[in-house]
Parts: sequence; structure tokens; C-alpha cells
Amino acid sequence: MSAWFASDLHLDPTAPEIADRFNRFLAGPARAARSLYLLGDLFEAWVGDDDPEPAHRGVVAAIAGLADAGTLVYVMRGNRDFLIGERFCAATGALLLDDPAIITIDGTRVILTHGDGLCTDDRAYQRLRALVRDPSVRAGFERLSLDQRHRLAGEARAGSREHLATASEYITDVNPAAVEELFRAAGAVTMIHGHTHRPAVHDSVVDGRPARRFVLGDWHATASVLRWDDGGPRLLPCPA
Ligand code: MN
Repeated sequence: MSAWFASDLHLDPTAPEIADRFNRFLAGPARAARSLYLLGDLFEAWVGDDDPEPAHRGVVAAIAGLADAGTLVYVMRGNRDFLIGERFCAATGALLLDDPAIITIDGTRVILTHGDGLCTDDRAYQRLRALVRDPSVRAGFERLSLDQRHRLAGEARAGSREHLATASEYITDVNPAAVEELFRAAGAVTMIHGHTHRPAVHDSVVDGRPARRFVLGDWHATASVLRWDDGGPRLLPCPA
């Protein structure tokens, strides 16, 4: 039994080397695994399943190739690709995960989340997050032309860069109380998430039980993945 986890690839037509590495991973090491979990921000921007962007179509085909070969592929939406929908899932063979989701691996309950919902100190960001998750706002966005959606996505990314450049580090990291609350609500002591681009393993104690939180890194800096096999979970650089 083995499973791979990755997040924050931020695939973008301007950085084809990251897509190349991911495609090598999908065609190589991932084939031997039972499952692959993509925990959000697979794409730098995903303005809708109807976007014909050729660079993204290559990745869609590569994921479909892995799923066809028998590996179970799960995908969670991140804050950059929250418009991933049913057509994406049908085209890739991936199964859409709720955020958060709870899975069981080797008898261990594991909380999976993109991670942005844990950054509760960032009030401005949480307001934006609530807005884009509103079904009526999403429906309105989906009715816009592709050009309009790309323009809005570009403005949102510029705003996000400016916000991250000026907000304190603790504001844009997860809030410890929010983490503890999620552990408690899920009745689990293992969590895997991304989003913050701060790969690490954090140990804590929740209601007297040791809890462990694995943070995946992004692929621009580290090409971080987590492998869970008979030896347990560990963070490592993408082997492809
Ligand atoms: Mn993110």
C-alpha cells in the first residue's frame, strides 16, 4: 500500500518545467501507488473547466493516464483553482474531495485540507474566501467570458501578491487554535495540508494525545511530496 500527496504545484503555462516534472512523476513513481491525493492549487489559475489552455490540457491527459493505469486520483480545490468542477473530474478520472476530508490509511484517520481555511488570522483573506465560495458568486463568475475570467483572475493574483508582501508572517500562516479545533472536530491526530508553502512536520498535543501535522511545500521551491507507505508518512522531494 502506498499513497502520494502533493499540493501547490501552481501549474502555469509560463513555468513549463514544473508541468514536465509533474508529468514525469505521474508517468513514473505515481504508477506504483494505490492512490494520489492532490490537495489544492494544482493550477496557478483555473478559471473554469471550459478553458482550452493547451498547457493545462497536457496535465489533464497525464492525470487521466495515471487513473487509467489503475491509481486512484483524488483532487481537492485550492484557493487558485476553486473552479475545478465535474468536467475536470470526468476528463482526468479524478475524484473530487471536500475540504476538509477525512480518509483512513493503514487504520489511521487522516485529515486532508488545502489549508487556507486554517489561516484565520488573515481576516481580509477569509472575507475573500467566503465570497468566492458563495454559490451565487461562483455562478456569476462562470457566466462571464473566458477573457473576463482571466482578467479577474489576474487582478486577484496581483492583489494576493501585494497582500502577501505586506502582511506579517504569522498572519499568513495557520492559526494554532484553528488547527486544534479541526483535529478535535475530526477526531483525528494526523493532518496533511499545503497552501502556506512552508513545508514542515509540526507536533503538538490535542486533548492529551500527540498530534502531527504535515505541511506540503510548493513546487517552485521544493517540489514537495508526501509518501505514505508501510514505513509511515514522510515528506520528501518529488522523486521524478
Ligand atoms: Mn493555496
